[in-house]
Amino acid sequence: MTLSQLARAIQASPTLALNEEARLLREKGEPVIHLGIGEPKNKTPINAILSAAAKLNEGDVKYTPVDGTPSLKRAIITYTEENYDRLVGPENLIVSSGAKQALYNLLYTLINPQDEVIILAPYWVSYPEMVKMVYGIPVIVRPEDGTFHPRMEDIRRAVGSYTKAIIVNSPNNPSGLVFSEQFIGEIVEFCETKGLYLIMDDIYHKLVFDGKTTVSPFRFTKKDPESSRVIVINGISKLYGMTGFRIGWAVAPRKLVEIMLNIQAQTTSGTSLILQAGAEGALTGVQSVIESLRLTIENNRNVVMDELRGFRGVRVTKPDGTFYCLPDFRAYTQNSVELSNFLLRKALVVTVPGSEFGMEGHIRLSYSGSVKDVTEGIERIKWALDPESPNEIYIGDRKLIRDWL
Ligand code: PMP
Repeated sequence: MTLSQLARAIQASPTLALNEEARLLREKGEPVIHLGIGEPKNKTPINAILSAAAKLNEGDVKYTPVDGTPSLKRAIITYTEENYDRLVGPENLIVSSGAKQALYNLLYTLINPQDEVIILAPYWVSYPEMVKMVYGIPVIVRPEDGTFHPRMEDIRRAVGSYTKAIIVNSPNNPSGLVFSEQFIGEIVEFCETKGLYLIMDDIYHKLVFDGKTTVSPFRFTKKDPESSRVIVINGISKLYGMTGFRIGWAVAPRKLVEIMLNIQAQTTSGTSLILQAGAEGALTGVQSVIESLRLTIENNRNVVMDELRGFRGVRVTKPDGTFYCLPDFRAYTQNSVELSNFLLRKALVVTVPGSEFGMEGHIRLSYSGSVKDVTEGIERIKWALDPESPNEIYIGDRKLIRDWL
């Protein structure tokens, strides 16, 4: 069988493989704890349900405009004005099937074969693969000082004549780092001077802790919405816990939106009317749902930090946002895939190997679940790895004995 070389070069997601293994274990009745998936456990906000249900009840579910329904776009324009202090028009917006599709359409629009896109490690797993899918070249910039915050000088050094864009994700999946205001200011200025596109993946932008806030990148642009190089990708998946609605969007100059629209028109068309109505309900409804989710997650973050502090050899940087942290397990192993596999098989805990995010020797823990899951999950990891922890543990009513240390 001859298959596309490009398609074959796209990596299977080890996260999905681990999830599948966890699902099979659960089906067999094993009490698996999932610290892998990045998905809040809240119920869909009531305004989203009512709005989606009302559309469904009308019984008139047909094709939608490719760039999104006018009323959802109005809600996004208001959201952008309120949260980013930026007034954009409907021609600067396109609604897609999740931030994921918005990002893919954008890369498809910007990248010529061999163009380079700068990606800051640790990075979200899909960035390098998406860049490759449009025949671009991902160029990874790593922080050299043991932090999760790459320096401007390293970014400057990585930029060459083929560089087209830089992707910044703040707060960051997987580290939870919020990029400093100074950094955002500098990178906006740098990109606009160099004529590079700055892609801000803002999907977690309100999930920040300890009274911190994220800064609007538009604050630093000296250009109007049509000539600005700053593009914001956003959506409802994380802030409202509406991952299954698959609604995201891009705010970009109209010239780019026009091309993104063509790409979407020739592939998926507009997203579902019902799900767009749900997104509109969430955006125009009671906004305290975000704050209540944020508080739950912040509390979980504190629990995780307490649990990890007592874990010998493990170093963790306190996350400022998202629902992830990326502890350093190099005192135990350099091989994060082996570690994640080991933890699933021995301790029945799902984690994601740091190698997926360009940070070998680390594993990503998600604390989007319950306090109980987070506490018990980390207890089990300690039991599996730390020779000084008791060598017996109860998982449900089953006693497990550690016989590998
Ligand atoms: N960007 C980042 C950094 C993410 O973590 C995710 C989801 N894991 C997405 C984009 C995709 O979001 P959506 O569900 O809206 O496609």
